[in-house]
Amino acid sequence: MKDQYGRTIDYMRISITDRCNLRCRYCMPEDIPSISHEEILRFEEILQICQSAVLLGIRKFKVTGGEPFVRKGCLPFLKRLKELPGVEQVTLTTNGMLLAPAVPMLKEMGIDGINVSLDTTDPHTFQSITGRGDFSQVWEGLMAAQASGIRTKVNAVLLQGVNGQDFESLVRIAEAYPIDVRFIEIMPIGYGQGYQGYDRSTLLTRLAGQFPDYQEVTASRGNGPASYISIPGFRGCIGFIDAIHGKFCGSCNRIRLTSDGMLKPCLYYGDGIDLKTPLRQGASQKQLRELICQGILKKPACHQFQAQNTGGIPEQRRMSQIGG
Ligand code: SAM
Ligand code: SF4
Repeated sequence: MKDQYGRTIDYMRISITDRCNLRCRYCMPEDIPSISHEEILRFEEILQICQSAVLLGIRKFKVTGGEPFVRKGCLPFLKRLKELPGVEQVTLTTNGMLLAPAVPMLKEMGIDGINVSLDTTDPHTFQSITGRGDFSQVWEGLMAAQASGIRTKVNAVLLQGVNGQDFESLVRIAEAYPIDVRFIEIMPIGYGQGYQGYDRSTLLTRLAGQFPDYQEVTASRGNGPASYISIPGFRGCIGFIDAIHGKFCGSCNRIRLTSDGMLKPCLYYGDGIDLKTPLRQGASQKQLRELICQGILKKPACHQFQAQNTGGIPEQRRMSQIGG
């Protein structure tokens, strides 16, 4: 369906857990209390929401977290979501730690894509960013995913003073493998507020020094706001998700579902529609559909990240609770 600004909303990001096995410094750097099991939507409830969303034209779903694979039953849930009538696309965003053993099942169920978050190619920097990650395990997962033929992308967040030096080596992943490598500009959400990132134009200038014959990709590539370039001889493309400097709200096609059942129309704002309470009070599919509809119609014209100075933003949740 269309929102009040004429944007077609056909994509939902679903966070199935706020828990994570890593402690990325810009996302969840320390142990924090997680949402209790009773407050987390059951898989059955999420599927009910998806069923209603499908009827409104939301046909593409991205499953995220926290880390989706730390929730027991993630794979059977993905399979059921994939099989839901009307669902056109199910993709996954993961830190890759538990990916390798899951690849055969993901392939078998026909998952439409896997995004692996990887901010560096250096094991020491990886450890320093993620607190407790094992680079080789993530790399193994990434390689298994791409070798299986599942469309695989890398998402990287570059932070000034932390991993800016890894830009070129991350870009080179797309030279060696048929993997799109995308650079996401850090957003001042949660712990992200303590870091400065890099915008597209800064990174492109750096890239042009090494690859002056790169070309803009004009054809659409994927569901999201990334803009891509191609480099001759590379097997994958390089993408930029310039959330702050390249505000793309005018073409935003998405809503979000948090793991505790809040339908979130925009990343920047803290408000949303509680779907869990009505669901647990026995809401019919029609009522659920009306609530999702309300959420879509509440979608604001745009975020105001760029207007922030020291005051913080309306959204008080952390990225691990929202799902990115
Ligand atoms: N754990 C999974 C993962 O890391 O892919 C899924 C959840 S994680 C919140 C989803 C994405 O959000 C990751 O690519 C992560 O790098 C990104 N992210 C986290 N905090 C961010 C921030 N403040 N700004 C931009 N991206 C952020
Ligand atoms: Fe976990 Fe993903 Fe956040 Fe890292 S970015 S702490 S892997 S949820």
